[in-house]
Amino acid sequence: METDVLVIGSGIAGLSFALKVSSFCSVTLVTKKASADTATNLAQGGIAAVLSDEDRPEYHIRDTLRSGDGLCNEEIVRLVVENGADRVQELIDIGVRFQRGKEGQKFDLGMEGGHSHRRVAHAFDLTGREIERALLERIAQQNNVTVLENHLAIDLLLASKAPSGPVSANGDRCIGAYVLNRQTGHVETWHARATMLCTGGCGKVYLYTTNPDIATGDGVAMAYRAGATVANLEFVQFHPTCFYNPKIKNFLISEAVRGEGGILVNAQGKPFMLAHDKRGDLATRDAVARGIDAEMKASGADCVFLDISHRDPQFVRDRFPTIYSTCKKYGVDITREPIPVVPAAHYMCGGVQVNSWGESSVAGLFAMGETACTGLHGANRLASNSLLEAVVFADRAAQRLAGTWPEVSRQPLLKTTPWRDGEAGSIEENVLISHNWDQIRRLMWNYVGIVRREKRLQLARRRIAPILTEIREHFNDYLLTADLVELRNLAVIADLIITSASMRKESRGLHYIIDYPERDDINFQRDTLLNRKKR
Ligand SMILES: Cc1cc2nc3c(=O)[nH]c(=O)nc-3n(C[C@H](O)[C@H](O)[C@H](O)COP(=O)(O)OP(=O)(O)OC[C@H]3O[C@@H](n4cnc5c(N)ncnc54)[C@H](O)[C@@H]3O)c2cc1C
Repeated sequence: METDVLVIGSGIAGLSFALKVSSFCSVTLVTKKASADTATNLAQGGIAAVLSDEDRPEYHIRDTLRSGDGLCNEEIVRLVVENGADRVQELIDIGVRFQRGKEGQKFDLGMEGGHSHRRVAHAFDLTGREIERALLERIAQQNNVTVLENHLAIDLLLASKAPSGPVSANGDRCIGAYVLNRQTGHVETWHARATMLCTGGCGKVYLYTTNPDIATGDGVAMAYRAGATVANLEFVQFHPTCFYNPKIKNFLISEAVRGEGGILVNAQGKPFMLAHDKRGDLATRDAVARGIDAEMKASGADCVFLDISHRDPQFVRDRFPTIYSTCKKYGVDITREPIPVVPAAHYMCGGVQVNSWGESSVAGLFAMGETACTGLHGANRLASNSLLEAVVFADRAAQRLAGTWPEVSRQPLLKTTPWRDGEAGSIEENVLISHNWDQIRRLMWNYVGIVRREKRLQLARRRIAPILTEIREHFNDYLLTADLVELRNLAVIADLIITSASMRKESRGLHYIIDYPERDDINFQRDTLLNRKKR
């Protein structure tokens, strides 16, 4: 199967890029479930950009650098911030309806933690859903974009494996991907002149996460296997308060609940945050997540509680209508009782290392959105900068491809061999997959979570190794299923996070390790880079 450009993923990054390049080439966009099964669809707060007269690019740059704790690439931060307003306008032009200000202003700009000015454009608390809707509607109108749902990319195709392929002197080249058609069960071989990885994050590698089920780190794992460099995977952002209930996944309890007087208490009803941080319940996101983690580890409890029941019930219902009604639906009346909460993995700051055009270290392979490490976030992402990063880099990568297209489109399309199942048989016992899946997520939560320790990291390295070997054997022995493909990626991502965390012997941003509590600029003010060929 052939296409000019293969885009993997239908979140804000993949859709924005596909829309742009469809003006000069044909695009096939594969997505592993339904098109709107994305983290983009869940984004609540909004998209950060300099959009008011009171704000300036310099302020947004300063806030981003401060949050990144010495590890942002300042040139990239400037590039993203300076492009922000234009990209937000483009979203409006394709039909995104941001909430307008009360006195006729174009935007009702939100204020979020770490931002010195109001700069978050939003569509109530459903911003991501509105962006996804508008992009999908626009994509549906493009004749030369084909969207294939239930198509799961397994591995990237490399020129070095193509019988006809002269490998360029600069190294290998990506020429497409093997894709599992989940409806037929067949593996399709998609050849492309350029391949774009936009597969989102990897929250599912942790026991608790705000991420949707698709977030299994597939793009990073595929790129790593193909020889691309990945960066800064130790920096995982945890949201402090996710609703703890087995029947509902991904439901965030906004930080505004603490802002309005909500108090974190343990199972005995005792407030505990002051023992961990002098700012108490109003400490920053990472400090609160660490406080809750310490409390849960010390008591062995499954969750802690966030109590706003002392406030006037009418105020609580009016101020937090969605949180009130959702919790009520699952048996918790937040005007009368505390809400069970746990911290949860929320955002992957690292990813496939790319340059300012979204190009990875493997020719022909781009990465964008949460899958990429552009240098914008450094050691800690500033809230609402991720949607912005995705649209800015979609634009940059599209420009790059447009510039090189006359040359790229002239080259013959290299072909590799189709996928071979060999002697593989059907996997009869799904418990083989579910057991490993569960083991990895618990291992990561308990050993490589919010607060780290050298000893636990060493144990994690020892435990992930046999799991990786076992999964490799399953891969050879059994016919592919989507679960098996995702499990392999989850194990690779776990290994990369553990290794990156073990290499950074300092505490910085989101990486907090008890054995090295201080930031060490002399030895560690640099990216953590991993490349399969150099390990
Ligand atoms: C609850 C929540 C709230 C958030 N709120 C905000 C916010 O307010 N502001 C902000 O800036 N950021 C926010 N974020 C982060 C932001 O939503 C994400 O970082 C961003 O949407 C990622 O976009 P993406 O296009 O990179 O990936 P996604 O939107 O996650 O899309 C990934 C796509 O890749 C597909 N895919 C994955 N693997 C494969 C494969 N192997 N083969 C084929 N397809 C594959 C998926 O099916 C999906 O279509 C939030 C995140 C969450 C979870």
